[in-house]
Amino acid sequence: MNYYCCTCPAWRNQSAHPVSACTCKHLCSLLGDAYEESRLKLKNPNDPAVPTTTT
Ligand SMILES: [Zn+2]
Repeated sequence: MNYYCCTCPAWRNQSAHPVSACTCKHLCSLLGDAYEESRLKLKNPNDPAVPTTTT
């Protein structure tokens, strides 16, 4: 497994994105916000921002 996963609803609700580019507050706190931000940009460069709320 070369990606991080979490079992919380926030993480699972990001199924529209590549699984390797999903994150949540738990991963952010575990890995660090700066790490997660750069990791997501690397995994999902076409996504302009980290998915938070899509309304
Ligand atoms: Zn989580």
